[in-house]
Amino acid sequence: MSYEGSCHCGAVAFRVDGDVPTEAMSCNCSHCRRKGFLLSFVPIDTFSLVTGDEALTDYLFNKHAIAHRFCATCGCQPFGVGKGPDGTEMAAVNLRCVPSIDLDSLTVQKVDGASF
Ligand SMILES: [Zn+2]
Repeated sequence: MSYEGSCHCGAVAFRVDGDVPTEAMSCNCSHCRRKGFLLSFVPIDTFSLVTGDEALTDYLFNKHAIAHRFCATCGCQPFGVGKGPDGTEMAAVNLRCVPSIDLDSLTVQKVDGASF
C-alpha cells in the first residue's frame, strides 16, 4: 500500500510506501504547536519526494536535528527529515497534507515536546 501527500499549491508532492497510518503524533513544542502538525514517522527508505525538491526551503532550529522542509510558495510543510533516537533516518510526515486520510479517524498521541 502507499499514500500520497502534497503542499497546498501542488509544487511539492510525496509518496509513502506502507500502510496508511491510523495514529498521529501531536506535539506541544514551540514549533509544532504553531504549525499544528499531525505527524507520522516513517523510515526514510519508504518516503519518496515525487516532485518539488527545488520548491522546498529548510527551516532549522534548536539542534538542527530535523530539516523542516516547507514549500516556499504556499508555506505548507508536508514533511521533515531527521534522525530518530537510534540514529535511523526518518521522515516526519505531516498527515494534514495527506488528503486521503480522515483526520478525525486518527488516534492522536500527545507528545510533551515543550518539556524536552
Ligand atoms: Zn506549495
